[in-house]
Amino acid sequence: MLGLMMHQPLRIAGLIEHAAKWHGTTEIVSRLPEGGPLHRYTYAEAHGRAKQLANALTRLGVQNGDRVGTLAWNTHRHLELYYGISGIAAVCHTINPRLFFEQLVYIINHAQDRLLFFDLTFLPLVTKLAPHCPTVEKWILLAGDEHLPAELALPGLASYESLLAAESAEFEWPVFDENTASSLCYTSGTTDEPKGVLYSHRSTLLHSYAASLPDCFNCGARDVILPVVPMFHVNAWGVPYMAPLNGCKLVLPGPALDAASLYELFESEKVTFSAGVPTIWFGLLTYMREGHRQFSTLRKMIVGGASCPPALLRAFGEELGVEIRHAWGMSETSPLGTVSTLKASQLELPEEAQFFLKIKQGRAIFGIDMEIVDGEGQPLPHDGVAFGDLLVRGPFVVSDYFKGASPGQLTADGWFRTGDVATIDPDGFMNITDRSKDVIKSGGEWISSIDLENLAVAHPSISEAAVIGVPHPKWSERPLLIAVRKPGHDLSAEELLAFLDGKIAPWWRPDAVEFVDSLPHTATGKLLKTQLRKDFAGYELKK
Ligand code: ADP
Repeated sequence: MLGLMMHQPLRIAGLIEHAAKWHGTTEIVSRLPEGGPLHRYTYAEAHGRAKQLANALTRLGVQNGDRVGTLAWNTHRHLELYYGISGIAAVCHTINPRLFFEQLVYIINHAQDRLLFFDLTFLPLVTKLAPHCPTVEKWILLAGDEHLPAELALPGLASYESLLAAESAEFEWPVFDENTASSLCYTSGTTDEPKGVLYSHRSTLLHSYAASLPDCFNCGARDVILPVVPMFHVNAWGVPYMAPLNGCKLVLPGPALDAASLYELFESEKVTFSAGVPTIWFGLLTYMREGHRQFSTLRKMIVGGASCPPALLRAFGEELGVEIRHAWGMSETSPLGTVSTLKASQLELPEEAQFFLKIKQGRAIFGIDMEIVDGEGQPLPHDGVAFGDLLVRGPFVVSDYFKGASPGQLTADGWFRTGDVATIDPDGFMNITDRSKDVIKSGGEWISSIDLENLAVAHPSISEAAVIGVPHPKWSERPLLIAVRKPGHDLSAEELLAFLDGKIAPWWRPDAVEFVDSLPHTATGKLLKTQLRKDFAGYELKK
C-alpha cells in the first residue's frame, strides 16, 4: 500500500523559493572580487536574480544534464549560479581554482563544461585555460561590462551582469525527478587523479536537512553564517543550501580569507557561526592573540576537512569562548558524515574525558551508516581500540564516480570504501587514525601518523609536522617525523622526541626527526604525503 501524501520531488530551487517567500528580507552580504563596498541584498532579490539567470541559461540553449562550470569565490553571484543552474536541471560544476593547471584542464574536459562562469581574479587563469578547453562555448565574467578587458578574446565572452540585465525575473522552476543530477565536484586528488562526484537534488536536500540538525550545524533563522570553506569545493559543506533552508543570514567573504578581513566581517556582520579547515583557524587564532581581540557574536565553528588539532579546539574554547565542533566528511559523502557533539550522559564526564571525545571525528549524522573492517573485510568491534578501514553508506553517499572513472570503490554488499582508517568507540564516536595509504605498518601493527602529528604540533616550537613511514628491514616500516620549527625557535630532534615520550606507546616513537622550512600541501591545504614520500625516498634510518 502506498501512503497518501503529495508527491513533490525534492528540488534545490525549492530552497531559495522558500527563503524568498518566508525569509524574504533576510540579508546576504558579500565581499566582491572586483573590490568596492560590501554587496548587500535579500533572499527575495537573490531569488529574482536566480530566475533571471535561469532565463538566460535557457536562452543560451543549456539543456537538462548539461554541465556549467564555475571558477568563483564565495559571493552572491556564485550563490545565484548554484540555484539558477541546478534549478533548470543542468549541472553546476564547481571548479577548484587551487588545483594544478593540468588538473583543471583535465576536469573541464572530462566534465565537458559548455559554459564557464569566472571571477575577475581568475582572468589570467582563464586566458591560459581557454585554448585547452574546446567544449566551453562561452566564458562569462562574474562582474559588470565595465570590468571586461577590451583586448580579451575568449569564445563567447560576456559579462554576467549584462547577461542578467537582459532577462525577466519571471520564471517557473520546472518540476523533475528528484534523482536528477544537480552539481558536480571533483575530489582534489590527494591520492589519485581527480574523480567527479555527481550529486542529485534528492541527496543535496537530504544532506541539507541532516546537516542543519542541532547536533550538527544547529542553524536557524537567528543565525548569521559565514562559510570560510569555499563554494568551489564540496559545495562549502552544504552551507549555501542550509542557509536558505533555515533562513540564516549569509555572509560571503569573497577572496579575502586572511585573518584580519575575516575578523572584520565576523564583527561588522554579527556572525554567530562559521565553518572551515583547521589551517584557517590557526591563522585567525594568532591574529586574535596578537591583538588581544575577542569575538562579540561568534559562538560556534565547524572544523573539518582535516584532523582538528587538540590545541586549536582548546584555545578557541578557553581563550575565545567559541565552541569548535569537529566534523569528518569527504566529497563522496556530500560531505558531512560525523560530528563530535557530546551526548547528555557524556556531559557528566570529567572535563578531560569530554575533551578527549570532542577531538574525535564524532558520531554519524542521520543518513550516514558506518562500519570498520579489517584487511579481509571482516567487521571490527566498536571498542575504541581496534582500527580498520572505514566504510560508509547512505542516501547522500556516492554510488559511482561521474563517467564511472573508478569502479571498485564499493564493496560487494554496497558500502563505500572511504580510504580512511578509524576506530569506533562503544558510544559510536569515530576517530580517524589515518588515511589507509598513510598508516605506518610496523611489525604487523599499525601506527597512526595523525596522532603523532597532532602531538608534535602541540610543542610550542613546532608550527607544522608530518609523519611518514620509511622502509625498515626488521619492522617493514618505521615512522619518520618531519617538522617545521616556528621562526626563531631552536629545538633539537632529541628534545622533540622527549616531548612525545610518555604520550605514546614506546614502539610508536619516531625513529628519526628531520626539520624542514615548509611542508608540501594539496590544492585544498592538506599535507601532500605523496610528495613527502618522494622527497624522502631512500631515507636511511640510523641503526
Ligand atoms: P580529497 O580526497 O580530494 O582530499 P576531500 O576534501 O573530500 O577530498 O577530503 C576527504 C578526506 O579528508 C577524508 O577522507 C579524510 O581523510 C580527510 N578528512 C576530512 N575531515 C577530517 C577530519 N575531521 N579529520 C581527519 N581527516 C579528515
